[in-house]
Amino acid sequence: MLSDARLAAAAGKLGRRAVKAAVTAAQQQVRDGQLEPEGVADAALAALPEQACSLVPVLNATGILLHTNLGRAVLSPAARAALQTASGTTDVELDLNTGTRGRRGRGTLAALARLVPDAGGVHVVNNGAAALVLAATALASGREIVIARGEMVEIGDGFRLPDLLVSTGARLREVGTANRVTLADYEAAVGPETGFVLKVHPSNFVVTGFTASVPVRELARLDVPVVADIGSGLLCPHPVLPDEPDAGTALRDGAALVTASGDKLLGGPQAGLLLGRADLIQTLRRHPLARALRVDKLTLAALEATLTGPRTPTDEALYADVGQLRTRAVAMAESLRSNGIDASTVDTTAAVGGGGAPGVNLPSAAVSLPTEYAALLRAGRPAVLGRVERDRCVLDLRAVAPADDAVLLAAVRSATRA
Ligand SMILES: *Cc1c(COP(=O)(O)O)cnc(C)c1O
Repeated sequence: MLSDARLAAAAGKLGRRAVKAAVTAAQQQVRDGQLEPEGVADAALAALPEQACSLVPVLNATGILLHTNLGRAVLSPAARAALQTASGTTDVELDLNTGTRGRRGRGTLAALARLVPDAGGVHVVNNGAAALVLAATALASGREIVIARGEMVEIGDGFRLPDLLVSTGARLREVGTANRVTLADYEAAVGPETGFVLKVHPSNFVVTGFTASVPVRELARLDVPVVADIGSGLLCPHPVLPDEPDAGTALRDGAALVTASGDKLLGGPQAGLLLGRADLIQTLRRHPLARALRVDKLTLAALEATLTGPRTPTDEALYADVGQLRTRAVAMAESLRSNGIDASTVDTTAAVGGGGAPGVNLPSAAVSLPTEYAALLRAGRPAVLGRVERDRCVLDLRAVAPADDAVLLAAVRSATRA
């Protein structure tokens, strides 16, 4: 069967095993009398996937810029190109001038250090949780981490920060109440057993009313290192998100270490950033656990291109002008109506999502379709994920790049035919 040129080509792309399994299944259909023998190759080809990877591209029309279930940040074209380069053999850990070992990921680390001049040292691990684990293990194992009760958060999918910290062998010294904590609470808790004070950004909820928390600036007056988990990975203040913490400010305010994710507002690949005092970063880098949390060459490449390259899709979506979003929605709805589709335009509210800027509403615009479209669009290729709101399927354009409008239109038309 593999002598069929099309099947041979498919085997080159998808592997012999996948093609053989598809042919075997088609042959079984022949034995079951459901298929003519001449149809085996065609049936096998039709059953085969497009790619060896089962991941399906999805257009994010949810209005949630960083959707955890969709893999958070969309990489920039520069970061995608860097992934291509890194996928072969590269000088990730080799100095081509001398032919000897070079510092792994030095270009990425240098780029990060340049962008955050207040950091004496920088280090990159697999994700934000890994950054916290490394800091807790290296600086507080067998000792205490002082943390406000209102900052003992669950990030999502059952990931609870306090459980993660305790798993490293550190003990939590909780201070304050769910809604209020003062510097005096911290002062009373800090002592010889303290490894560090941890300040966690409540990145997916807001507490309002009778509340008080202590900023990094004040915590820095304590005589112990302050580790600030800022979550979203902003390196400097963001004009659209004035309340979102950033690494540079936290360090200038006196944090000894900042931890953050690479794939939230930074707009890069999944990664954990550690920035801060040179001696602490050195301790973390030299800890045996650091090897287990080491990032691969693909991450290093995409992260460097994110840091040095053009504006990320996440940032473009943050800055998107609502007037332009409306214009795009109107044009798309008109075009769909000309095909007899019940499409209209609605004003919507988009959000950052993915553990960043909770409570921030971004004005947006959407194409509204009958509710059946939600399932039909999910079944398409590329799939489209919208929201269902008041019995309509709403396709929010804030997280859709303008260049993808044509793809989105084609997906709706193809869903209509289905
Ligand atoms: C997202 C987040 C984390 C976890 O980071 P991951 O990169 O998902 O591992 C930890 N702390 C805060 C405050 C976060 O927002």
